[in-house]
Amino acid sequence: MPLYCFKGNPYFHVTFSTCMKQYPIHRALKHFFGYDNFRLNQQAIIEAVLKGQDVMAIMPTGGGKSICYQLPAVLMDGLTIVISPLIALMKDQVDALHANGIRAAYLNSTLSNQEQNQVITAVRNGEVKLLYLAPERLFANGMQFINFLGTLPCSLFAIDEAHCISQWGHDFRPEYLGLSALKQHFTKVPVIALTASADTITQKDIVEKLALQQPQIFISSFNRANINYYIQPKQKAFEQVIHYLDKHRNDSGIIYTLSRASTESIAAKLKAVGYDVAYYHAGMGSDERAKVQEAFQKDNIKIIVATIAFGMGIDKPNVRFVMHYDVPKNMEGYYQETGRAGRDGLKSDAILYYSSGDIGKLMRFITVENNDAQTQMMKKKLLQMKEFAEHDGCRRQYILEYFGERAPAYCGSCDYCLSNLERRNATIEAQKILSAITRTGERFGADYLIDFLRGSNSAKIVPAHKEIKTYGIGKDIKKEVWQAIVKQLLQQRLVDVEDAAYPALKLNEASRRILRGELEVTLVMKKLKEEASIITDAPQHHADLLQQLKEVRREMAEQENVPAYIIVGDNTLLDMATYLPLSFDALRKISGFGDYKVGKYGPAFMKVLQQYASANGLETKIQLKVPKRERAVKPNKPTTTATQRASYDLFNEGYDIPDIAAKRGMAVSTVENHLMPFVTNGELSAAKLIGKEKLDTIIALIKQTGETYASKPIKDLLPEEYSYGDIRIAQAHYQWMKDA
Ligand code: ADP
Ligand code: ZN
Repeated sequence: MPLYCFKGNPYFHVTFSTCMKQYPIHRALKHFFGYDNFRLNQQAIIEAVLKGQDVMAIMPTGGGKSICYQLPAVLMDGLTIVISPLIALMKDQVDALHANGIRAAYLNSTLSNQEQNQVITAVRNGEVKLLYLAPERLFANGMQFINFLGTLPCSLFAIDEAHCISQWGHDFRPEYLGLSALKQHFTKVPVIALTASADTITQKDIVEKLALQQPQIFISSFNRANINYYIQPKQKAFEQVIHYLDKHRNDSGIIYTLSRASTESIAAKLKAVGYDVAYYHAGMGSDERAKVQEAFQKDNIKIIVATIAFGMGIDKPNVRFVMHYDVPKNMEGYYQETGRAGRDGLKSDAILYYSSGDIGKLMRFITVENNDAQTQMMKKKLLQMKEFAEHDGCRRQYILEYFGERAPAYCGSCDYCLSNLERRNATIEAQKILSAITRTGERFGADYLIDFLRGSNSAKIVPAHKEIKTYGIGKDIKKEVWQAIVKQLLQQRLVDVEDAAYPALKLNEASRRILRGELEVTLVMKKLKEEASIITDAPQHHADLLQQLKEVRREMAEQENVPAYIIVGDNTLLDMATYLPLSFDALRKISGFGDYKVGKYGPAFMKVLQQYASANGLETKIQLKVPKRERAVKPNKPTTTATQRASYDLFNEGYDIPDIAAKRGMAVSTVENHLMPFVTNGELSAAKLIGKEKLDTIIALIKQTGETYASKPIKDLLPEEYSYGDIRIAQAHYQWMKDA
């Protein structure tokens, strides 16, 4: 495999030279990377980079930072230099680019002199679009290398893992400090700094040290929506692990433990019962470690039992689970380690086996010699970890709030939410409380009404009220649950509270509609039944076909000596096994297939697909495939702007959209746009905005047409009184339902 390639690929050159300038970036994304939509802030970041601005992009692990410089790199003239500290990952990144037909190369100590010269010649000849370098390389041999770069048409510097430049970060690397001089040598070349580091001191430090000029800073939500968080009491941990693994036979995952010895003993026990497993810790030789890492990366070993030494260089997208056999020392570690699951966006599990005894053991060992302040800090962090593990509420909310993000109290995908709560129709409960409000004359507060509903014998209850039919009809529900119901009804503005000294609950128009049975109410409530039913109307995949496709992929990966996911990811295989694309055009509709990959790997997959379809008498289902839109707004990401929030606050104060528009001197559509993100993240009910009836009608059409984004096709099907705004709000609601 050459280090740079595709000189001989005519397809690449034709499209490259003719289309590049006028390529809308969405088409470029599909063409080069095979993805249908941008994730998080990718699009805004890429646009800023293409405008020549300095950018700092903060995105969680697996968020998709690479595309943020790789796409600009292919769209801009000249060469993009990528600085990365992880030498072990460079080859992978370059292989992945090659697999998409993009000319890339790297220079580092793993190459022979001859290979390095080859790369330099290729770079000099303009045959490389992206060049990966370790930071120390830049200033090797005095100024020689910098001067060499100065002779090249450098269009962009991308600094990956940019927090390594900061002493405040968790992974300071002195060799990164050299990058401070970059802007002096290349005053005109824009720089994009990328990191997953969440804390603000580090962020500020990065901007200063790299001397970024009026940088645009993009911070994405740290919510990893596809990771399910579970914490289980640690009883017989090994049996608990086996119990999980038994149900996840084909999955790849990492089991973290705190000591080197236990990695070895757990791995041995797992091996003894037939699992495909290796251990990893810092006490092993570097060759041995590299071997284990590579075997895992290439799926030759499914499970790694490791200390936290394992992970920095792991870029494996299909890690399906991360387990903590022992409690991590702090939330930062927990987030980072669990974050290695599900980089490909597919559902994945993070499981912590927790015992408070483990906290006690760790506590005794925390001492940083001669540094009392640091010791105290580490103890405090461990206590926060304990608090998290024992927290009686949504895990995701705790994690996000720990990192400074607002989050709702219900995520629907952590052990707490799954076992305690559910989002369900609570119209009856709402009707009960609303009718209690009317029957008692709209003069009482929540506490009184709840006592009344629960049939309290307290002397506080007006005797005449005890004669009313509604008295006692809410006995079956606990007081705290009623309180939660009232709170949510207020939040959704389905009932009002009088702004007087005594907060009496009052009906509003929505309440009256609920009482008349015209409006349904959905609330997050304690679960009634044990099992949660999973409703899915998505077509199922053909498991045997998936196996065949995996096999083909494995063969191609072996031939090219790259990890299997570099050919295509698991989600791409899953889509093929589901939608049966039987033509190359159909294959292009599968996420992960850029044009180059369709040409290069398409035929081999196509053969299997067509054979399978004809042997089983199946037809393609590609028409059912709606391009999956990656959310631009993740639930509760804090990036709602101040102006959006101002509109939202007014709405919460009871103004309707035209009122807000008038008050703020804005167009109605602008205000609608302001409110949209709150619908997408679940903070605001769409029914409240446009009414249940309109919402239902539009949702039905969205389902029917599959138009989750375009509003025109739906508008055409609706009567005049439905506005584009209504449709967009319903689409935002639909998105939220799917994400929730
Ligand atoms: P990070 O560097 O932020 O941890 P990567 O750049 O490695 O993340 O991306 C993580 C995974 O997500 C990769 O497998 C990548 O190909 C995939 N990915 C990135 N952007 C998109 C997108 N817009 N649509 C689908 N998959 C994407
Ligand atoms: Zn939750």
